[in-house]
Amino acid sequence: MRIVSGSRPTGKLHIGHYVGILENWVRLQNEGFETFYFVADWHALTTGYDETQNLAEYSKELIRMFMAAGLDPEKSVLFVQSAIKEHAELQLLFSMLTSVSRLERVPTYKEQKQQMEGNQSLANAGFLTYPVLQAADILIYKGEAVPVGEDQLSHVELTREVARKFNYTYNCEVFPEPESKLSHTPKLPGTDGRKMSKSYGNIINIESTPEELKKAIMPMITDPARKRKSDPGNPEICPVWSYHKAFRITEEDKKWVFNGCTKAEIGCVQCKKLLLQNMEKTLTPVWENLVEIDAREGYVDDVIYSGNKRAREIAKSTMHEVRNAMNLLF
Ligand code: SF4
Repeated sequence: MRIVSGSRPTGKLHIGHYVGILENWVRLQNEGFETFYFVADWHALTTGYDETQNLAEYSKELIRMFMAAGLDPEKSVLFVQSAIKEHAELQLLFSMLTSVSRLERVPTYKEQKQQMEGNQSLANAGFLTYPVLQAADILIYKGEAVPVGEDQLSHVELTREVARKFNYTYNCEVFPEPESKLSHTPKLPGTDGRKMSKSYGNIINIESTPEELKKAIMPMITDPARKRKSDPGNPEICPVWSYHKAFRITEEDKKWVFNGCTKAEIGCVQCKKLLLQNMEKTLTPVWENLVEIDAREGYVDDVIYSGNKRAREIAKSTMHEVRNAMNLLF
């Protein structure tokens, strides 16, 4: 089964990206799926230009992090969306099959629009039509499954509709209807318990050193009821507990934390020390991979070049079928 997914280049990646997206992508690759992962640099342009001054650099950084997390360019096709112009052509053709009212009903569009009220860049047509670009991103490789969180389910549904409509309108079987591969990957809160976001200053970069991890974790907010060690707490309302669950805690340690917290038998410092150990254990292979990648001059560029080449071949072949189905002269 072929899997396609992308991520926007936003600079240094934080641990939320690692446990929320990359670990899952690596698992799918290693389970033997045919995996296509791309840097969604055009998507980054749909919500404004402010963050895109360093787009080229961020795109390279993302591929570097893909590999550090364990994506193997021999097993997965790693590429940059804007290098494959066929995505844009297919989006144009799909946009003829998609009504404006359907796009206005996409839940993430409605939510983001409300959240970013006053942001003039959201008045652009690209923001409204980005789910059509996503459909093109997936279908140009005939993706059969898309790893998504619950908030992205509606996008895959739209992709399925577009594929169905294209096949029906042009009486062909060019596109599969991809299924959602719902991943129950944890959404990590920031160190202050709010949503993890650069703008709140509550993120932890994947590339943090052990000392930086310690500096970020030890002052982390916990259950406010635990003023003293003798005060029982509730892990369910503590961000440290969310981190424990994301960073490969053993079942035995899970019980130790849960019981120790609820029965006031352990202190938050003890609890955080265990978390730090598990975070270091999880992130050490990533840090080691980064050292190796950085030691190979031009390696990231080479990977991008050959990933783009492999992606382009498939995209060209799909577009050939599309143009034939639509009776386009060229
Ligand atoms: S013991 Fe652990 S889970 Fe409980 S409040 Fe403290 S840090 Fe949070």
